[in-house]
Amino acid sequence: MGGGICGYAVYPGSGGVREFFAGAAAALSSPCMDSLIPTRIELARPIPPLTYLAPAGLQPGTRVEVRLRAGRTLGVVLGPDPAPPAVKLKPVDAVLDPFPLLPPRLWELLDFAGRYYGCGLAHLLPLCLPQAVAADWETPLPSGTRLCDLRDAGDWPGLAQAGAAWQAGTLDLPTLFHRRGLRGAGVTEVRRTAAPNPPRVTPTQAKVLLALEGAGGAMLEAALLEACAVGPGVLANLVKQGVLERVKRLDLMSQRREEGADRAVVLNEEQRRAVAAVDLDAFSASLLYGITGSGKTEVYLELAGRVLAKGRRVLWLVPEIGLTPRLLARLEARFPGKVAVGHAGLNATERQADVLRLLQDEAPLFVGVRNAVLAPLKDIGLVIVDEEQEGSYKSEEHPRINARDLAVKRAQLEGCPVVLGSATPSLESWHAAQNGRYHLLRLMERPAGVTLPTVKVVDLRECFKEERKKVVFSPLLLKGMREALSLGQQCLLLLNRRGFENFWMCRACGKTFDCPHCALSLTYHKGAYRLRCHLCGYETAPPEVCIHCGAEHLRGVGEGTEQIEDQLRALFPEARILRLDRDTTTRRGSLEAGLLAAEEGAVDILVGTQMLAKGHTFPKLTLVGILNADMGLKIPDFRAAERTFQLLTQVAGRAGRAELSGRVLLQTYSPDHPAIVHAVAQNFEGFAAEELPYREALGYPPYAAMSLYRSEGDSPREALEPLRALRARLETVPGLRLLGPLESPIAKVKDRYRMQLIVKAASRGPLGEAMRAAPLEPGGAVTLDRDPLQFGV
Ligand code: ADP
Ligand code: ZN
Repeated sequence: MGGGICGYAVYPGSGGVREFFAGAAAALSSPCMDSLIPTRIELARPIPPLTYLAPAGLQPGTRVEVRLRAGRTLGVVLGPDPAPPAVKLKPVDAVLDPFPLLPPRLWELLDFAGRYYGCGLAHLLPLCLPQAVAADWETPLPSGTRLCDLRDAGDWPGLAQAGAAWQAGTLDLPTLFHRRGLRGAGVTEVRRTAAPNPPRVTPTQAKVLLALEGAGGAMLEAALLEACAVGPGVLANLVKQGVLERVKRLDLMSQRREEGADRAVVLNEEQRRAVAAVDLDAFSASLLYGITGSGKTEVYLELAGRVLAKGRRVLWLVPEIGLTPRLLARLEARFPGKVAVGHAGLNATERQADVLRLLQDEAPLFVGVRNAVLAPLKDIGLVIVDEEQEGSYKSEEHPRINARDLAVKRAQLEGCPVVLGSATPSLESWHAAQNGRYHLLRLMERPAGVTLPTVKVVDLRECFKEERKKVVFSPLLLKGMREALSLGQQCLLLLNRRGFENFWMCRACGKTFDCPHCALSLTYHKGAYRLRCHLCGYETAPPEVCIHCGAEHLRGVGEGTEQIEDQLRALFPEARILRLDRDTTTRRGSLEAGLLAAEEGAVDILVGTQMLAKGHTFPKLTLVGILNADMGLKIPDFRAAERTFQLLTQVAGRAGRAELSGRVLLQTYSPDHPAIVHAVAQNFEGFAAEELPYREALGYPPYAAMSLYRSEGDSPREALEPLRALRARLETVPGLRLLGPLESPIAKVKDRYRMQLIVKAASRGPLGEAMRAAPLEPGGAVTLDRDPLQFGV
């Protein structure tokens, strides 16, 4: 999954860490050895905290380096150990920070998150503080004393005092951080210019040019260097020859700037009311509900402007930054020089550069994805969570935080408002707004120039009756596409399944070809001529005959985007077709490049998975075709209908943002399903009104809280045992409903058998009790997913 300011960095083992340690402050020098006391240290490893000897007075939250078995590991000081184990304790190898570098209220948030999600500080810390951020011990205090002088004198209380003053803003330490190699760092994009290829290119140059061509002509520099495994010199050379140009992200933003992006609009009545409803001086949570294009971003911008004017800071979360170049352009235009960005497309240096700007309080507005909720921003006056319903706010790997929920907690700790915005709010947030926990702010008007697309249902059952075979493109869709293309307009086709065919089966014996390591069938990829497992990556050449019975009657079932692309090429040989799915966008920046090409009109038919649903506006897009709207409804997850509704509404909305009026053709086998009916009417409230009672009746969120305990083993029994034991302990906790342990929906992945235990309660309280009654061993067989979002895996 990745993402965030620094992704989920694991310390041990990576070369970068060694370098960091080598370059970090000198190890503890001898004078203070006598004042070492037993100290609890949490390591960035899946083990419980350990006790080491460390200088007395070291503040909790200080990073240290310790020896663990043969290696060295990063650790975080928790505090003195009042009851140290009766063994010879090892001293820490080095103290890395002169004082804790994060703002005090962020520690509170980390503390909360650690307890809530059941993970240690040392696992959360890397999400806020890239491993390479290192303080310079040579930094002088105003008195001329250097930080290292205090350290060498063992004056940790003195350092703590300096740290507190620095956090409070009363002490300026402009040179506190090493900025080696960071000067001028920022996101740089490399682009192919219009110049012809040079007469002669070296093999490395060719590699670069090919990679760029494959990515549609532009890539982030860091990604390009990584993809080609070349040094910056190669690029410099090509730039000199005029073949490539390097564009700084900020320039990039201004180049993409929409006409008038920097002009503050005059808010309409609804927007003014929304802005006025948010009290900037106290905690409150608001749900800003308005269809795409209704002007939510303008409301955020207005609120952000007011908060910045008061000298406070703004934390702005977005689900996926690669898809929001427009937003970055608008932010940079509105608040020039004040914006720092955190997202997965950055390399380590770039990430570090922007986090340093936060630590040194040089950028009061931070916009970023999931982990940005933990960004080291102090004195926050406003938290924004755009597209709050997005699943990407939830981490699906340890630590399994939910940034949307932590954003609300963070605002609470900071005593500032949080605004959650969406066109299709999560039912959790909608419910909170209905029962008054959140303020509901509505934007129902669409500003001029934005029209609702017309949505028409195509009943695939009828098509089947007429054609007497399965229909992929209904006659109505084909007719619509022909019309659109003949007028020079664009079409977008959504099919939420990649590959050529979903699975292969034998007509003779009826068996499917499954992954030998996972409980899942293999997907046929025609271009690669491979059967592939989408879970573990296993692949094999497609067999000529059935591996089960030897018959020759193999059949592919269930078309994927790759096949759709093939069929489209046959149907519309003249059209420029671009497929965007996980197979075509593995290179960083390639999705963005593809979408940009489509935005600029270089594509006639855009086909792909849900990736297409968000972000960009295609001015010439007039027809959206949803090939099989039912696809997501079959997933064994109580949120299947909600997700389907959101996806369909979003993708339908793509057709409504152009100057030209748009249409949506939605092909389905179940036109009566509530998710489909309400998506066709683009009626979120109708959907919520129908879905919520169902959730309530079955005791699902938002009417209940859930924890999902998972375990894995080499055999089903090995996976089951620890969950059985856990269940026995949880039986004694009042207020819990225990479901399982049972096989996970995908019972085996990478040869590991998977089991799960679902724990439900009327509220979150008993689930916290459960964690205390049966604490999980770090690194043990069982893992916990609180407020789980993924049940289908
Ligand atoms: P959302 O975030 O809800 O999708 P935006 O804030 O991006 O909506 O608004 C959509 C478009 O309408 C933008 O181009 C924006 O500048 C414009 N817009 C929004 N509010 C106004 C307004 N009050 N007056 C003029 N244009 C507006
Ligand atoms: Zn597999």
